[in-house]
Amino acid sequence: MPDFRSDTVTQPTAAMRAAMQAAPLGDDVFGDDPSVNALQDHAAQLLGFEAALFAPTGTQTNLIALMGHCQRGDEAIVGQSWHTYRWEGGGMAVLGSIQPQPVETQADGTLRLADIAAAIKPDDPHFARTRLVVLENTTGGQVLPTPYIAEVAQLARARGLSTHLDGARLFNAATANAAANGSDVYAEARAICAHFDTASVCLSKGLGAPVGSLLLGTRDFIRQARRTRKILGGAMRQAGLLAAAGQHALQHHVRRLADDHALLHELAQGLQQAAHTHPLLAGRLVVHPAQTNILFTDVDAAVAPQFTAWLAQGGVRVTSGAHGGQTRLRWVTHLDVGAADVAQALARVQAFALA
Ligand SMILES: *Cc1c(COP(=O)(O)O)cnc(C)c1O
Repeated sequence: MPDFRSDTVTQPTAAMRAAMQAAPLGDDVFGDDPSVNALQDHAAQLLGFEAALFAPTGTQTNLIALMGHCQRGDEAIVGQSWHTYRWEGGGMAVLGSIQPQPVETQADGTLRLADIAAAIKPDDPHFARTRLVVLENTTGGQVLPTPYIAEVAQLARARGLSTHLDGARLFNAATANAAANGSDVYAEARAICAHFDTASVCLSKGLGAPVGSLLLGTRDFIRQARRTRKILGGAMRQAGLLAAAGQHALQHHVRRLADDHALLHELAQGLQQAAHTHPLLAGRLVVHPAQTNILFTDVDAAVAPQFTAWLAQGGVRVTSGAHGGQTRLRWVTHLDVGAADVAQALARVQAFALA
């Protein structure tokens, strides 16, 4: 059954399960789980940071980073649509006493430099202390251009602010950049990270690990992060079982992300065709441009309930939500979606008819 809901639905592969089975284990709270230590060292070196910390979720690595950069009453500049602001239960405010300062997200996923600059508060007791700028890459499947990231980082540095990257799908961004530049995906990932003080990367999205995210930064920052992780309840014991899956993912599932992007392109083209030629969908289906492994389509209210039910009854799983007066469907390709799934989904779309 084609499951396009999210790249988080993947099952660990046989090779990944074997790596987990073979992993030497310790107690990571004592710092002696060799598989966790190996993953953290490997990731830090791979992405050009001094140190890394393994944690259960990306929500937690983001929160740990926010709490490391900001003290009680400090402020973090985020995008209106950022995961750190919108999709993490308000964690920075609830648990960090950090004030988010959201800035409008542009259609291409960027925040305007002028908007960021205007959001920075002067040193005045009326205001929260602005401390941090957060970027998200990819964001809604869109890639932030690396030169743009460099400009934001320069602005932040000039104003004395720290920078954090929510790179849940960092390697999808790096894959797109590598394709565009004819370069290496790991080098592109490092090039993105080079602009940030800290970065969070998910192992359980496109990389296909069952659990886990990494926070990367300086040795001092990660030492403090370890304490915060403990406070948040994220310090785990024989976590090497999970870290081994993450290590396998970093080594074997990065280059294959290009396959997910190619498959999404195929899906987008098929849907685009339906948007032009299908008797019920023509003029009622908008297929948004896609750069990585995430595609959004908007369906007109006239057929949206019937169309989403049609997909579901045909075993084609997507996520859907209200968007303006329309229904927005999200299609994500990943390790457990193949060419046959895309073909099945497109056949189902082509066959769409009113009961
Ligand atoms: C998925 C995601 C996270 C982390 O989510 P968890 O489910 O907590 O691991 C963070 N940021 C972005 C942009 C994400 O897509």
